[in-house]
Amino acid sequence: MSLACRTFETRVGEELFGIKIDYEREYVVALAGNPNVGKSTLFNNLTGMKQHTGNWPGKTVANARGVCRYKDKEYVMVDLPGTYSLMAHSQEEEVARDFVCFARPDAVIVVCDATCLERNLNLVLQTMEISKNVVVCVNLMDEAKRKRIGVDTYKLSKMLKVPVVGITARKKSTLKSLLETMSVIVDKEEKTQDFMIKYPEPIERAIAVLEPVVSRKIDHIDSRWLCLKLLDNDESIMKSIENFLPINPFEDGEVASGLEIAYKILEESNISKEDLSDIIVSSIVRQAERISKSVVFYEDEKYVERDRKMDRIITGKYLGYPLMMVLLFVVFWITIRGANYPSAMLARFFFFLEERITYFFELVNAPNWLHGILVLGVYRVLAWVVSVMLPPMAIFFPLFTILEDLGYLPRVAFNLDKYFKKASSCGKQALTMCMGFGCNAVGVTGCRIIDSPRERLIAIITNNFVPCNGRFPTLIAVITMFFTGYLTGLTGSLVSSLILTLVIVMGVVMTFLISGLLSKTILKGVPSSFTLELPPYRRPQVLKVIVRSIFDRTLFVLGRAVIVAAPAGAIIWMMANIHVGGETLLGISADFLDPFGKLLGLDGVIVLAFILGFPANEIVVPIIIMAYMAQGSLIELGSLSELKELLVANGWTLTTAISMMLFTLFHWPCSTTCLTIRKETKSIKWTVLSFAIPTLVGIGVCFIFASTVRLLGLIINT
Ligand code: GDP
Repeated sequence: MSLACRTFETRVGEELFGIKIDYEREYVVALAGNPNVGKSTLFNNLTGMKQHTGNWPGKTVANARGVCRYKDKEYVMVDLPGTYSLMAHSQEEEVARDFVCFARPDAVIVVCDATCLERNLNLVLQTMEISKNVVVCVNLMDEAKRKRIGVDTYKLSKMLKVPVVGITARKKSTLKSLLETMSVIVDKEEKTQDFMIKYPEPIERAIAVLEPVVSRKIDHIDSRWLCLKLLDNDESIMKSIENFLPINPFEDGEVASGLEIAYKILEESNISKEDLSDIIVSSIVRQAERISKSVVFYEDEKYVERDRKMDRIITGKYLGYPLMMVLLFVVFWITIRGANYPSAMLARFFFFLEERITYFFELVNAPNWLHGILVLGVYRVLAWVVSVMLPPMAIFFPLFTILEDLGYLPRVAFNLDKYFKKASSCGKQALTMCMGFGCNAVGVTGCRIIDSPRERLIAIITNNFVPCNGRFPTLIAVITMFFTGYLTGLTGSLVSSLILTLVIVMGVVMTFLISGLLSKTILKGVPSSFTLELPPYRRPQVLKVIVRSIFDRTLFVLGRAVIVAAPAGAIIWMMANIHVGGETLLGISADFLDPFGKLLGLDGVIVLAFILGFPANEIVVPIIIMAYMAQGSLIELGSLSELKELLVANGWTLTTAISMMLFTLFHWPCSTTCLTIRKETKSIKWTVLSFAIPTLVGIGVCFIFASTVRLLGLIINT
């Protein structure tokens, strides 16, 4: 199709998914595929973008767009959500089907997994029924080779009568033939589809009756496919036709009478309306099976068996949980031990630099308030975020991503599935919790992978029980100062990791409890049945993961530091230095909150810091430091042990430290997360509840803990 002749469908495409396309210059290419087949990897390598990739099904939850240039042509690549079919049983399937059907892309690349082609062929066949511009892209050829599986792409192409290209999406060098094929297919004038899925004879006869009527009414959609949908009484396609086409072609009675005759034919052959969809699906599955049998060769039948054996251990009854705990512990240990050195180095560097900057301010006779705002406010908060928050994250993330790449995280979800079912929620929630480790806003968006609205809401409301970027290092700092301060070296870091593991486990247990409570009260329901698919184990790209995640994390943390932490530093310094009636604003607010703070085992300053830290959790500890320093103590903070002195001088005890950790784990989501919840749920009520529930849990847990300590103290003293 030449660029000039695209008129109708381009207009529809533009309105469809909010994707801006310059139709004079650009071609539209959709990337479809089952979840976890390497679509995002391919998309990133073609467009140079950085869509999140990971070894679990269901990460791409919305259409992503990127531009790819090849031989003077520009292609807008649209990464569709991963789906197993286009039957529109879920939101993802509907989005993918509507894009292929109504946006009418110039090419649809269906990405398949060479190691399990048969399942992928179902989607290929369904896509070919809708679009005439299909390119089959068999990815993971390297994995297939490793597992000694051969795929005859030439024969597959002959059988399907569409171009078939074998690639390894991770290696850019293998993508040339795909680009070449794409550039040919988008310009093909006459698009024909020679391959047809054959249905049982009565269905074929019914289609033959209906098709002439339907094709007279509508020429934008494949009429044979549409007939099947009409026979199958697919309401979702009818709704989409009403949405996306300027006219409803089926309003007059002609189609209805055609349908009547078609149903009579089916009835005569004893095919009821209910049986029809099963027959359609099983016809597709059978043909996928037949094609797969003739193009896939297994040289080593045992490879599947090996993965299964590993799964029996990793997801086994006895070893599954201990292994999970050990891995969590090891990841934390490497994080804590590894972060110590860069943290200390960065802190030394920043405080050395602070002296120089201060010297410069003195040299130019800058007023004290300016030095205060810029150095003691902005600079110190930035120094804290970079030296204390950044190193643990830069170590934790690559490790976590390697586990994800390996295929371990879906196994964690599998292990925890039983408990989620008990809490009447969904096993996929474990995956959204994993995303929450990075950022709860991302975790909340990730909840789109959960189909049931009820279970999605539960996952959104409880996502905050996983500590994010901004809270995780705070926990590490408090643990290091108050629990392992006297233990040095290996013992110190081992004990820290153990405590951190326990804290995280506590967050997970609370997730189960609150999910269960929600399922029994305001979000009543039974768990939906779904089978969590275990992806194959894959060799992670260790070096790439390390470089990418350190780079991404660094940019993310630095970005937040500049946008949120630096201005917050200036405001908080002012609050700590503007006096009203002999007291600072910070002091007045802290005094006001003090009785409440004490009830929770905290104090007014800490509660105030959490409140002012609403824009970003990263700034909670710097606010505490600034508030204490403004109230008299003038310690030059260069290390955690000096910080501990400051805290102890301001009344911190082991109880305060534990309460601080509990409140860090259980309190309201930050402002970005709240906005994301509002966007995802489109409801003030659920946003308010997502704020209130973790907050009430935090207040409750801290109150119970602090009261128990007080009671024990009383008992011991009497
Ligand atoms: P999507 O869900 O289809 O978007 O899949 P992703 O692009 O996130 O990839 C899923 C997993 O497969 C990730 O761990 C990728 O690194 C891995 N992967 C993707 N393409 C290849 C490939 O060509 N070879 C190998 N060995 N792994 C790949």
